[in-house]
Amino acid sequence: MNVDVAIIGGGLLGLATARALLRERPDLSVTVLEAEDRWGAHQSGHNSNVIHSGLYYKPGGLKARLARAGGEAMISYCEANGVPVKRTGKIVVATTERQLPQLEMLAARGRANGVTVERLDRRAINEREPNIAGVGALWVAETAMTDFGAVARTLATELTGLGAGLRLRTPANAFETRGDRTVINGEVSARVVVNCAGLHSDKIAEALGEKPPVRIMPFRGEYAELRPGLRNLVTNPVYPVPDPELPFLGVHVTPMLDGTVHIGPNAVPALSRHGYRWRDVDPKMLRELLADPALRGLTKRFWRYGVTEISRSLVWPLFVREVRKMAPSVRGRDMRRHGSGVRAQAVTRDGALVDDFVIQRTERAVHVLNAPSPAATSSLLIGSRIAGDVFEQLGDDDASRAVLKDVP
Ligand SMILES: Cc1cc2nc3c(=O)[nH]c(=O)nc-3n(C[C@H](O)[C@H](O)[C@H](O)COP(=O)(O)OP(=O)(O)OC[C@H]3O[C@@H](n4cnc5c(N)ncnc54)[C@H](O)[C@@H]3O)c2cc1C
Repeated sequence: MNVDVAIIGGGLLGLATARALLRERPDLSVTVLEAEDRWGAHQSGHNSNVIHSGLYYKPGGLKARLARAGGEAMISYCEANGVPVKRTGKIVVATTERQLPQLEMLAARGRANGVTVERLDRRAINEREPNIAGVGALWVAETAMTDFGAVARTLATELTGLGAGLRLRTPANAFETRGDRTVINGEVSARVVVNCAGLHSDKIAEALGEKPPVRIMPFRGEYAELRPGLRNLVTNPVYPVPDPELPFLGVHVTPMLDGTVHIGPNAVPALSRHGYRWRDVDPKMLRELLADPALRGLTKRFWRYGVTEISRSLVWPLFVREVRKMAPSVRGRDMRRHGSGVRAQAVTRDGALVDDFVIQRTERAVHVLNAPSPAATSSLLIGSRIAGDVFEQLGDDDASRAVLKDVP
C-alpha cells in the first residue's frame, strides 16, 4: 500500500501529527500504525492529566515555547470535542526555607514564559489549601485538568472522519528502503515516516538507519490513591518545588476530574520499556543498558537521587513520609498504591538527562526522540510542528508555512 506519510505510534503525538497533516491537506494519504490494541496505550494514557502552564521550562526552549500556547490549544480542543476539562490552577509549595530561592527562580521563569504567577505566604497557602503546609508557594492560575486518554481516543475518532488509515495491533518492526520510499513490514510504502514511538523511538530510529544522539531510558512513575473519605484534602493540584537538576516535577497531590485524588508520580528506573511494575523485567533491554556508557554516566551523576527514589518505592513508610512533608495530616492507611506510568526519558551518551523536547529530521523521516512532560499538554502544537517538517519533506512549503502559523 502506498501512502504519503506513515506515522509509527498512536499516542498523542502520532495522532496529533496525523490531524495536523490532514486538516491542512485533506488529500494526503496518512496512516498511523499502533502496536497496541488501543490508542494512547502507554504514556498518553498513564499520566497525571495536568495541562501545564509553562512555569518550569527554560525560556526560549521548545518546552517553554510550546507549553503555554499548547495548553490553551488543548483546553480549546477538549471544550470543542466534549472531552472533560477544567481550569483548576495549581499551587507549588516550598516546605523548607532552603527551597525558597528555587521557588523564586520558578516564578521568574514562569513570568518570562508569559505565565501569571502569584506569590503566596503561609497564611495565603492556608486560605487556599488548609491541609497543605508550606513556608511559601506560587499560585499558577493557568493550569487545567483533563483526561489525556480520552483526548487520544477523540483524536482517533476525528482522524477516521479525516480519512486517515488507522491500524491498531500493528507493530512496525521491519523497514526497507526502496528508491525514495520506506517500506514498513513489507507492506506500507511511505514517502515520509514519522517516528512517534515514545518508549521505543530510539530503537525505531536505529532500525531506520539513524544513529540517534540519545537513548531512551524508561523511568516509572508510581501513583497512590487517597481513600474516598479524604477526597476533599485539596481543592487543586498541589506540587512540590522540583529538583532543578532533574526533569521530573516531584510527587504531587492531584484531584482528578472523576473525583479521585492521586498522589505521585515518583521516578524509579523501570526494568522494561513497559515496566509498569518492579516485576516487569526485560533481560535484553537490561543487558543493553548495562553495556551502555550512558548508564554509567547517569549512575555517577544521580546515584543518590536514585537510591532515595527506589527506597521510597519499595518502603511504603518512606513514601508516606515524603507526602506528609506537604500534607502532614495524611497517614499510610489513607492511601493505597494505584497504578503507574513509564516515562520515555532521553539520556545522552555520557549519561545526562535531556531536558528539552528533541525532534530530529532526516531526509525522509522525522524522529521524536524526547517528548516527556509537558508533551501531552503541548501535543497539538508538537503535531503541527512535526507536520511543518513533513510538508517540507514532501516539497509543499505553502502547507508547511500554513500549519506552522500558530506554532510559537
Ligand atoms: C507518569 C507520567 C506522568 C505524566 N504527566 C503528565 C502531565 O500531567 N501533563 C503532561 O503534559 N504530560 C505528562 N506526561 C508526559 C506525557 O504523557 C507524554 O509526554 C506524552 O504522552 C507522550 O506522547 P507520545 O505520543 O510521544 O508517547 P506514547 O503515548 O507513549 O505513544 C507512543 C506509542 O507508540 C507505540 N509504539 C511503540 N513502538 C511501536 C512500533 N514499533 N510500532 C507501532 N507502534 C509503536 C506505543 O504502543 C505507544 O502507543 C506524563 C508522563 C508520565 C509517564
